[in-house]
Amino acid sequence: AVVVAPSGAVAAPQGDYLNPNAPVSFRVADLLRRMTLAEKIGQMDQIVTGSLRDTADPADGMCRNTGGNKDPLQPSCLENVLVRNFTGSILAGGTDNPVSNTGHGWAEWYNTIQHYAIDHTRLHIPVIFGVDAVHGFGHPFEAPLFPQSIGMGATWDPTVARIAGAATSRSLAATGWTWDFAPVQDLYRDNRWGRAYETWSEQPALSAAMGGEFVTGLQATGQAAATVKHFAGYSESINGHDRVEAQLPIRYLQDVFLPSYAGAIDAHAAAVMADSGSVNNIPATASHFLLTTELRERLGFQGVVISDYGDVPALAANYHVAADFAGAIAKAVNAGVDMSMTPSDFVGWNTGLAQDVQRGLVSVDRIDQSVRRILRLKFQLGLFDHPYVDAGKADATVTAGRDAALTAAQESITLLRNENNVLPLKPGAKLVVTGPSADSMTNQLGGWSVSWQGVFGAGHVCCVGPADQIPPGTTVLKGLQAADSATTYAPDQASAVAAARDADAIVVAVGEKAYAEGLGDNPAPALPADQKALISALQATGKPVVVVVVAGRPLGLGPARTAPGLLMAYQGSTEAGTAVADVLFGKVNPSGRLPVSWPSEADTPGADFCGTCPSPLGDQPKVLDQLPDTAGGAGHNYNPLYPFGFGLSYTTFTTTNLTVTNPVRRTVTVSVTVTNTGTRAGTQVVPVYVHQPVSDVLVPPQRLAAFTRVTLNPGESRTAQVSFPTSVLAVTPGDVDGTARPDVEPGAYQAQVDAMTAGFAIR
Ligand code: BGC
Repeated sequence: AVVVAPSGAVAAPQGDYLNPNAPVSFRVADLLRRMTLAEKIGQMDQIVTGSLRDTADPADGMCRNTGGNKDPLQPSCLENVLVRNFTGSILAGGTDNPVSNTGHGWAEWYNTIQHYAIDHTRLHIPVIFGVDAVHGFGHPFEAPLFPQSIGMGATWDPTVARIAGAATSRSLAATGWTWDFAPVQDLYRDNRWGRAYETWSEQPALSAAMGGEFVTGLQATGQAAATVKHFAGYSESINGHDRVEAQLPIRYLQDVFLPSYAGAIDAHAAAVMADSGSVNNIPATASHFLLTTELRERLGFQGVVISDYGDVPALAANYHVAADFAGAIAKAVNAGVDMSMTPSDFVGWNTGLAQDVQRGLVSVDRIDQSVRRILRLKFQLGLFDHPYVDAGKADATVTAGRDAALTAAQESITLLRNENNVLPLKPGAKLVVTGPSADSMTNQLGGWSVSWQGVFGAGHVCCVGPADQIPPGTTVLKGLQAADSATTYAPDQASAVAAARDADAIVVAVGEKAYAEGLGDNPAPALPADQKALISALQATGKPVVVVVVAGRPLGLGPARTAPGLLMAYQGSTEAGTAVADVLFGKVNPSGRLPVSWPSEADTPGADFCGTCPSPLGDQPKVLDQLPDTAGGAGHNYNPLYPFGFGLSYTTFTTTNLTVTNPVRRTVTVSVTVTNTGTRAGTQVVPVYVHQPVSDVLVPPQRLAAFTRVTLNPGESRTAQVSFPTSVLAVTPGDVDGTARPDVEPGAYQAQVDAMTAGFAIR
């Protein structure tokens, strides 16, 4: 149980801000005028839970995050953090819950801390609790988890994102950890980056649509708050390493990156997190241009801006754009940061910001502005009026939603090869299942699932921990065993080759181990040599081999490129094994489409512009919206192994009758007839690309403008209609002088669906 001293409660305060029927703006103003400067400064700080558990350091009274994961809350630390330093927010960190990693454990822990904050402070201001619930709330181990965002992106189904957001919101509301640090709206631009799997897509239109719906689902009941991160351009590290500098021409930033963030901001996300890296030689945390000019003045964002972990002190300690912590705080706050994820130096934050005010470096008005935003969020979430949760009900809520997570995993699976219709497998087929990801829950979960930013469990690249801390779910092996009793598991290459003799087909699950952040950076993401050797040995048996890739990003495939069956399962999370089995046996007709380009690899004949010889250069980064060039002869050297949007089905579709109707300045409507010409029901994703035959500045030969999905029975036809605002075609015009804003160039355009084009004009 949580150990907290019961003494020291203060009398209940009075004030109009406590009236639940008063308008929020009135309550905020009333509370703000009652607060001392020290109380305001405390609201602007977030600490990590470790600071509540460790024994106070006798030297300075600080409770530093150095202790074991299961340490109980320390009354002296609660007192120091919440009462003496008025800290406004708490970050969950990993699954370091001293009660238990269950719904009720997280709820109880929340209630205890919240009670302490409210009961022992003068104004009874509740704390807001933040957590990274990026594909569901994984801290209670029994919760079902959705595929990582890249897998959800592969569904091309924003409804999946909305349902994931709504499920996450229910779990957060049930436990009290209501401030979610999701969605990630950084664009996938480079598969070497360790956080590629946290993105929805490489293309802004797909990413914006998914992120917007995630926010809508998460915030629909008003009980959870979304955070769009990491603003802006975090994914564009110059060398694929996490948190390394981005050099982002203003045109690339405005035309490609910002629309992805804008999709989620326009859905009224409550918060934005600053990018931990630097952009054009300015740390994003200290960038007034990014956090105020772009974010607030141009994108109209009105919520709370939080820094990323430890990034305010980093302005002094790492970036050296300030001499000390106080100087760093002044830079961050004046740039537009409202709250600092410090994450444990609340004393340094408080004294530093107070010093800044005294020296005239930060105005009280600027502080009031931030505190107003933070209090508004707390009022809107109902924290003042209903600060506690019913821990007894939390388990039931966090364990619900397995069906939705399964649907998401099913829709995500992307069939890349199906030679000789090796798939779907025949019912009762004698299967040999093997490979390092065949029976690994941690591999199919990926990062941000359990433990600090990743997963515990033997074999994880980061942390090895107790195997009992692996959430319940269905691995690929368990899914196949449930679907087909004639399934044999072969734990290694020798047993798999031996078992193959009597088998009808071999399913080999390969890919990546789980990782988080920079731990996942990889100069050449590819299947490891032993996995390639395993696939080659299995292919040599002559039996049909179906390769299931369990990974957070496209990988170099080696011999898997020629396997008759090849499917990308991403990190499909707790329900992935059932989803894979459903697709392999044809219970589900695959409809996933790559949300990213799959680069070719150095040993692929024909890769890169040589045409016939292996490329010595590799093929990354590789994205569809590369600009025209002179390298390929054809004017666009875009030749990945599998292009953006690729994915096979067990049925066939045709698209006909493309028309563009009512093109007006603001909206273009495209319609197309989709027919299922095969023998199974199936879902076709219909991307609408726009080509601009002549443009003043370079634009990609194809830009994804909009998309839809159509589900059809065999022989059925349907007209699909998709509209998009012309603003998705905006580019920064002319020679850039630093002030030009994106605009739509008047002139001729073409809508493209499959091989069809239809012209329209924008005046
Ligand atoms: C990550 C953020 C995350 C934060 C809090 C940081 O290291 O970059 O995405 O929200 O930690 O866990």
